[in-house]
Amino acid sequence: MDQPAEHIDAAVAARRIERERRARREAEALLESKALELFQASQDLRQVSEALAGRVDELEAERALTLHLARTDGLTGLLNRGAFTAALINRLEAAERSGEAVALFVIDLDRFKHLNDSLGHHAGDQLLNEIGRRLRAGALDGDVVSRLGGDEFAVIASGEGLRKRAQALTQLLTQTHTIYGRAIAPGASIGVAVFPTDATDATDLQRFADMALYRAKAAGGSRWSAFDDELRQASAARHSLETELRRAIPAGDIVPWFQPVVDASDGRITAVEVLARWNHAERGMIPPGVFVPLAEELDLIAELDGALFQTACQRAAPWVAEGLIDTVSCNVSQRELLDPSFSRNLMRRLADTDLPATALTVEITETFLVHDLSMARRHIERLASRGVRIALDDFGTGYSNLRALLQLPIHTVKLDQSLIGGVGRDPRVSKLVRAMLGAAKSLDARIVAEGVEDEAQAIFLRAAGCDRMQGYLFARPMPADDVEALMRSQAAGAEAPTDRIMAAAATLRVGR
Ligand code: C2E
Ligand code: CA
Ligand code: CA
Repeated sequence: MDQPAEHIDAAVAARRIERERRARREAEALLESKALELFQASQDLRQVSEALAGRVDELEAERALTLHLARTDGLTGLLNRGAFTAALINRLEAAERSGEAVALFVIDLDRFKHLNDSLGHHAGDQLLNEIGRRLRAGALDGDVVSRLGGDEFAVIASGEGLRKRAQALTQLLTQTHTIYGRAIAPGASIGVAVFPTDATDATDLQRFADMALYRAKAAGGSRWSAFDDELRQASAARHSLETELRRAIPAGDIVPWFQPVVDASDGRITAVEVLARWNHAERGMIPPGVFVPLAEELDLIAELDGALFQTACQRAAPWVAEGLIDTVSCNVSQRELLDPSFSRNLMRRLADTDLPATALTVEITETFLVHDLSMARRHIERLASRGVRIALDDFGTGYSNLRALLQLPIHTVKLDQSLIGGVGRDPRVSKLVRAMLGAAKSLDARIVAEGVEDEAQAIFLRAAGCDRMQGYLFARPMPADDVEALMRSQAAGAEAPTDRIMAAAATLRVGR
């Protein structure tokens, strides 16, 4: 129990006071150090939060920049294709609600490739930049201007006052521009389609504007064209052709025809080229120029060529076995060379026929050189290693990167028929063809001239050193039974229609 206060003596009181004071001092010191710690911590925290805020700003700026870069075209600063598509979809959604009409102008520069090739990429870039600047300067409120890629631009605009707007754009793009002291009139073709009158979604609107653009280009360029009934009918026709093609391939309605290739020394058939024909119930024979590009676009070309290839090889196998021909040439589309399994699939299909690999020639065009060369090279090398011959088709029409070609196993070069046209008549064409022949020879390849239509051409080409020839002069493409009958009659000793020509050619020498 507590002692009464009066009994506590002074000494005890003093000690207690002293103890309490010490305790208070200690508490104060502790408090102070804690406060200091706290202060320090809050300082640190502030620094961290400041740093964090800075970093967040940085990140935000980075994100905005990335977003901007992802949405813009690096050269012109305009929206790129991806951002453009998104903007178009948004705009059409808004227009649907407001009942507004929207016009889509697609623009493609005329002769841009020529300018790029002749003045260089730097000049090309400069011009693209200038076009971007003009389009931006000429834009009205609410317009969306974009570069879709290459020399292709697009403007999303109001659907009102279409004609005036199209004319203004055409004019804007034809003004001359000076590059390296040279005045250049760029010239552009424009196609336009309108929502909702022409199309009710972004995909169709773009497709229709593109169709109008192609028409403007085909009419010579430097003009505009609007989607109309004529194009609508063409689009519908294409659509039905598309549906029918999807059905025709598995149904086997696309059949191989064969065009003889003759030996230049005697005009006798030594090979055949397989050319696809679509035997259409109502439209008759549709040439490959119509359905091959369509099949490529629809991603049906591998299926089409695969089936055709197998049928053709099987049909031609006995001709090779009997010695009527030494090789069967099949065309391969550019698209197929980009498929990693192309050569494997082809060898597998070939193995299912009686045709030996050494009797097969695969025709490819040079355009593969500008796409994925490494993939194409792998296919070409794999096929060649199995004994398949490789022919370079349409030689002389474009790229002719001889250096790159030198590294590939090319067994045959086919001189394009566009070169053959004036040969033997126009001395300059003859000179050019001789030069092309020289280039082809540097590849150590057999030379086949395509599209030989008359005697003068045949005589010249033979004397200039072509090994083989193909063309209407000798024979047109024909069904399997017909080509077989023709070959058998020749083998039985019948005179080839061109024997006389070849005899005449043999007596000529054309200087190199
Ligand atoms: P290409 O490979 O250059 O075939 C030669 C084309 O020239 C053929 O046209 C042939 O009929 C035609 N031709 C032959 N001789 C003459 C001539 O003396 N004068 C003229 N004016 N033309 C001649 P076709 O059959 O219409 O084939 C066109 C193109 O379609 C072919 O050009 C080839 O690139 C492609 N093609 C044909 N069949 C197939 C196929 O089965 N698959 C693939 N991927 N493409 C094919
Ligand atoms: Ca060919
Ligand atoms: Ca060709």
